Amino acid sequence: MMIKSRAGLLGFVLAVSAAAIVLGSGADFLTVRYGLPAHGPVHVVTTVLVCALPISWFVGARLMQLNRLKDQLEITSRYDRLTGLLNRPAFMDMLAELPPRTGAVALLDVDFFKRVNDTHGHFVGDKVLAHVARCLSQACRPGDMICRFGGEEFAVLFADAGVEMAQRLAADMVRSVAESALSVEGHSHHLTISLGYALAGDGIDPAQALQSADLALYRAKAQGRNRAVAAWDAEPPQVIRPAA
Ligand code: GH3
Ligand code: MG
Ligand code: MG
Repeated sequence: MMIKSRAGLLGFVLAVSAAAIVLGSGADFLTVRYGLPAHGPVHVVTTVLVCALPISWFVGARLMQLNRLKDQLEITSRYDRLTGLLNRPAFMDMLAELPPRTGAVALLDVDFFKRVNDTHGHFVGDKVLAHVARCLSQACRPGDMICRFGGEEFAVLFADAGVEMAQRLAADMVRSVAESALSVEGHSHHLTISLGYALAGDGIDPAQALQSADLALYRAKAQGRNRAVAAWDAEPPQVIRPAA
């Protein structure tokens, strides 16, 4: 029973009361038919007012509360609280449900993030992480998906992106973080990210592509950070198809 608002609750109460009136009248009709004394419409309506209305209101209010809790639970189980992004399990579930088509996945990691915590404390670190998440979200196109993969790592799906589009989006992401600064408690934080990306589709499922992106991310770190490295920088891309 989906009661999510006061209007829904009112509808539920009215429906139960109407059903009680119909059933009460039906019962009254049957008692007359079998020669028993009828209670009459006043009795039926009084029963509805005394029993059906408060009971249905009580039950409906509990159902509404339950539905709201269910919605909240769904949100907290799918989204990361600090950044508001999808969390890793939800992202992986959505990747698995995608139709098999060309796209690119990226795995990225904030550079030297531990220094922020060590120098300014974890609360400032949290604000910086939320800021990076906002930058990354802004660099995404409608239809792309982004998640907090864990700690200071994020994963992105560039939907329907071929080689060139993936290169452009990955570079844009790295630039958007490097060019933004966050001011917390009078201190301006400038951060960079390292990013690895790989193509998915045509037989390469996105989870597999994420592993290639992970290896590329290690190379981005090793090559000096603040850069995007494609998985095919080490081996040529297997999927060379333009964006749909
Ligand atoms: P690298 O450039 O090699 O990635 O260096 P790094 O310092 O970013 O990497 P490292 O793995 O050493 O440190 C990551 C830090 O991220 C360690 C951990 O305490 C911190 N961290 C993970 N999750 C959170 C969080 O939710 N909030 C805060 N403030 N810090 C977090
Ligand atoms: Mg890391
Ligand atoms: Mg890091």
